[in-house]
Amino acid sequence: MPYGFFTVDTPLNEITHEYRPGSPERTAVHDAYKKMFNTQMRVPLYLGDEEVYTNETRPIRPPHDHQHIVGSYSVAKPEHVKRAIDNALTAKKEWAAMSWEHRISIFIKAADLIAGPYRAMINAGTMINQSKNIFQAEIDATCESVDFLKFNAAFASDIYQQQPAPGNGVFNRIEHRPLEGFTYAVTPFNFTAIAINLTSCMAMMGNVVVWKPSDHQMYTAKIIMDIFKEAGLPDGVITLVSGDPEMITDIVLKHPAFAGLHFTGSTFVFQELWQKIGQNIKNYKTYPRIVGETGGKDFILAHPTADIDVVATAITRGAFEYQGQKCSAASRIYLPKSTAQDIIDKVVANVKSFTMGSPEDMSHFITAVIHEGSFDKLVSYIDQAKKDNDVEVLVGGTYDKSKGYFVSPTVLQTTNPKYTTMETELFGPVVTIHVYDDEKWDETIDLVDSTSIYGLTGAVIAQDRYVIEEASKRLVNAAGNFYINDKPSGAVVGQQPFGGARASGTNDKAGSMQNLLRWVSPRLIKETMVPAKDYRYPHMG
Ligand code: NAD
Repeated sequence: MPYGFFTVDTPLNEITHEYRPGSPERTAVHDAYKKMFNTQMRVPLYLGDEEVYTNETRPIRPPHDHQHIVGSYSVAKPEHVKRAIDNALTAKKEWAAMSWEHRISIFIKAADLIAGPYRAMINAGTMINQSKNIFQAEIDATCESVDFLKFNAAFASDIYQQQPAPGNGVFNRIEHRPLEGFTYAVTPFNFTAIAINLTSCMAMMGNVVVWKPSDHQMYTAKIIMDIFKEAGLPDGVITLVSGDPEMITDIVLKHPAFAGLHFTGSTFVFQELWQKIGQNIKNYKTYPRIVGETGGKDFILAHPTADIDVVATAITRGAFEYQGQKCSAASRIYLPKSTAQDIIDKVVANVKSFTMGSPEDMSHFITAVIHEGSFDKLVSYIDQAKKDNDVEVLVGGTYDKSKGYFVSPTVLQTTNPKYTTMETELFGPVVTIHVYDDEKWDETIDLVDSTSIYGLTGAVIAQDRYVIEEASKRLVNAAGNFYINDKPSGAVVGQQPFGGARASGTNDKAGSMQNLLRWVSPRLIKETMVPAKDYRYPHMG
């Protein structure tokens, strides 16, 4: 029982280290990388009562060096999934009853472990497992993870302070209860921080979580579980099961105590999961919360008044950082005829200056794409573009998977604004440019709005304030995160809460109080001090 009211102040964002040549932080990550790359990590299932190393395992291979093995992860059988759920439900009683400031302290400690003793390891792990260059690993695995944990702690504190209006003779209060049952987190490969956020934000609010990470993030998943454990997270609060995603998901979604899905990944997987929840709806004890942040086809719309260097930089960074494997990566670009060639020349020159290779060499901007499936998909679109008459390869268009899954950053230009790569999410280092007549600005805004099924991020670049206002109003539903004179990626927790609508998700804004509110079910308590003893009201005489 707490003897006081506690608050967690809004933190400052974690400062990004720069990893300049010769710096101590660069040496620390380099040493961690080398050691980890040459050691075998075995990833168990975390079932709550036990860490289980199964006989059936799958190897973990760095995407930039796929013949090298850095460890293996365990493959769950149906009984493991059931055990994870049972143990989560057992842990729920004590966890939900724990005072919130103690729950939250565990995650603040996890943030401090990441920012301090685990920083080099979680960055190096993200470089090895997900092929991020050091800077991309730092802004994800360290900075965004720390920010999610600390900002969510502050949001949780704010939520618990929210109370109803007082009344005469009554004491009104609201309890922000965890959901009844257990929750399910399904996470993608591309951000270590998303794995941390999706699991921890539900747990912070008193929920227990069954977590199914991506097969391509299992190495850093173990680092995360180790950090949670060291921070003091009790067994069973977050369980981890890996292996066949359909089998695991089917068992989870059929369970009567399933109370919420926190998903980030591709649109079509999310739609399938939603359908399965619908099919099971009569079996559940409570209506499950469904939160999904999914795909994007993110745009940059440049106006004739746009500064050409700003546009070229936004395209170069927005499309190619982390090999275009950010849901917010710019992938369809609209340039006015009057300045298009100057912008294209700069983008092409930038792309030609990139170097590509293993993230161990910290001078590289580009490394490999995540797996062979992604490589093959990108190659098929690039090869098709080489054959099609309405599209041209301006730079890139080459690939090599002999050692790692390397696709050279590719810029396409199409005369057809509905060309397939203007509409389809490719999730790789391919960007497509369409040049419009300056007089057709008006129609081009409609084109941007209507070209894809997604509504995640987008940027307008212009210097004319009337134009900025017009684009901002007319593209109101085209992007959940709308950028003016910037690239459409790189959202910072607390500053730019992230999410999109249309086919891009439920827009519950990761890194905001709105998201945390999805994981609680308020109970209003009205206590009457001197209750009525006669049913008659005064007007009845
Ligand atoms: P993915 O959809 O392939 O996988 C996401 C998760 O779903 C993984 O854990 C995977 O194992 C699981 N999964 C896959 N098939 C499943 C099935 N049939 N049943 C149950 N679970 C299944 O996505 P990915 O390749 O890991 O990540 C890339 C995608 O994620 C892109 O579409 C990207 O836009 C999206 N993404 C969106 C956001 C956002 O905030 N909107 C953030 C990051 C990534």
